Amino acid sequence: MIYADNAATTQLDIDAFEKMKKFLLNDYGNASQLYSFSRAAKKALKEARITIADCICALPEEIYFTSGGTESDNWAIKGLQTLGDDRATITSKIEHHAVLNACAATEKLGFPVAYLSVDEHGVVLPETLCDVITSKTKLVSIMLANNEIGTIEPVKELAKITHAHGALFHTDAVQAVGHIPIDVNALGVDMLSASGHKFNAPKGVGFLYIRKGVNINPYADGGAQEFGMRAGTENVAAIVAMAVALKKNCANMQETQKKLLRMEAEFIQTLDDAGTDYIRNGFANRMPGNINISIRGANGEMLLHRLDLKGICISTGSACDSVNTQVSHVIEAIGVPDAYAQGTIRVSFGTMNSEDDAKTVAEGIIDILGIR
Ligand code: PLP
Repeated sequence: MIYADNAATTQLDIDAFEKMKKFLLNDYGNASQLYSFSRAAKKALKEARITIADCICALPEEIYFTSGGTESDNWAIKGLQTLGDDRATITSKIEHHAVLNACAATEKLGFPVAYLSVDEHGVVLPETLCDVITSKTKLVSIMLANNEIGTIEPVKELAKITHAHGALFHTDAVQAVGHIPIDVNALGVDMLSASGHKFNAPKGVGFLYIRKGVNINPYADGGAQEFGMRAGTENVAAIVAMAVALKKNCANMQETQKKLLRMEAEFIQTLDDAGTDYIRNGFANRMPGNINISIRGANGEMLLHRLDLKGICISTGSACDSVNTQVSHVIEAIGVPDAYAQGTIRVSFGTMNSEDDAKTVAEGIIDILGIR
């Protein structure tokens, strides 16, 4: 089996798993309890917060553990709204549904939302934000890296424009954390969402970075966990595993990037040598390992199933969209021509893949297309 859908999820890192086991089977005390048995859990939680904060140049008290990217996005978007304040949110048309649907929910409650268009590479051009933003804007939420086409957005510039208008900036960095260097201060973001399972940590754990001083409502009311902002007994095992995986990914980042770029080159070369007629989607500045292509006259879903029969896992769009056979909102937003759009697939390589895998996946596609 070749798993080439790492933008959907990743394999759990073995060291993260070992650490997790310890907190599931041995040191399973509730981190909020006062007796000595809980001390290991409490200490591990504190250390995990420090490790994670270090990886994104934040302060430990700015890291709030959540159940993943969807929760972090919902919190950032819905948490700023208060009764009687109808200032607007601005987002883009190519956000993940965790952001788009959270925005749609706030619209239903009467909070206005504007959706920015992107260029043909999926880039939110700063001038499009300048055209829409006013002093009545409360929040701008633009993703750091797109989950389908991998485009890295000019977040630093967008955050600067946002602050000049007195609004706050949130970025969904679920695809980026653990894969490209992140410094929340250099980016100038006020909130940043991350999800463990995208960087070899377990599923169902993530975090929201909230800059000190940002006034946001709690996500869940209850106990005093997460500084009283997100109540509920902490998932210590998953949190410590997330810290291990993130630290490891950050330490190996440069080496991994080089490896992924070699896989990309192998894949593209194999397709090109066979004379495949395709468009590569996304911006040149994109997530390493992400290859989103639209093949002329092909059907993405048919390709996915035929590759599955060969033991190869890829995606047609985002995984969360896999029941939907229509052209994805991202492919539509970047204006891929009709003759190509239906033949869109996303191949996303990860640390567990090799250049041989890249060649095999490309050859599988060529074989199914019958162009050899
Ligand atoms: N945001 C982006 C960009 C994603 O790619 C995903 C997952 O695919 C999410 C949010 C949702 O994250 P989670 O699966 O942790 O809820």
